[in-house]
Amino acid sequence: MSAGRSLMAVLLVALTAAFASEAAAQAVDRLYVMDCGHIAASDQSRWSPGVNVGKPIELSDNCYLIRHGSEWLLWDTGYPDAVAAGPVTTPVGVATRAKTLAAQLAEVGVKQADIRFVAVSHTHGDHVGNVDMFEQSTLLIQKAEFDWAFAPDRKPPFKAERPLRKLEGDLDVFGDGSVVIISTPGHTPGHQSLLVHLAKTGWLVLSGDATHFKDNWDNRRVASMNTSADQTQASFKRIADLLAEKKAQLWINHDKPQSLSQKRSPQFYD
Ligand SMILES: [Zn+2]
Repeated sequence: MSAGRSLMAVLLVALTAAFASEAAAQAVDRLYVMDCGHIAASDQSRWSPGVNVGKPIELSDNCYLIRHGSEWLLWDTGYPDAVAAGPVTTPVGVATRAKTLAAQLAEVGVKQADIRFVAVSHTHGDHVGNVDMFEQSTLLIQKAEFDWAFAPDRKPPFKAERPLRKLEGDLDVFGDGSVVIISTPGHTPGHQSLLVHLAKTGWLVLSGDATHFKDNWDNRRVASMNTSADQTQASFKRIADLLAEKKAQLWINHDKPQSLSQKRSPQFYD
């Protein structure tokens, strides 16, 4: 082999290795599904207008902890940990919390200060209940959601004075495509979902409340409390296109049967 050809061979090997490591870098290391509450709701049709009117439904409420190298991102924070002290009656139904988020983080050895980013799908109380626990983390929230939630006529969902980044659209959180916030307004003005890539599990879309349970997703039903039906339909299409493009699974936060079928923290997906 000539010197030129052997140099070429060395370069090819180096290039292949570079691409392989880049491909490996484009996945997060771990995803934990944490139990962030449960609601026994009195009327399913709140989410499925005209369907199962007056019938109760039980919904899960998850948080998702993601490890990217030495960094951590928490997606949604669930009901406040205080709900673990006893059932709370809400306008929707009875909320409970079997375990605190703090205890579940401790169980996997993660401290609040270890979490670089907290991202919330939206500002309803069953998603932002523990935001104030993470004073040092940068909160990732859409500007439209922040402005809506902190309007003068509304009760602030958490302390506004904190590290936060107001987004106007999508965000590639770690800059390598492994975790991307996807703007999916409609349930609320600045609702967002999360696209996550894991090496073994593949691509996932964490729904937030873009949809609340599988039957609603399959029928593309717009929940009664949504702030925009048109935006909701556009977000349905956005998510469906993403699922097709990435061959991704849709993990629906409040779908109790699906949540129960998943590995729960301290087990994890990789
Ligand atoms: Zn909601």
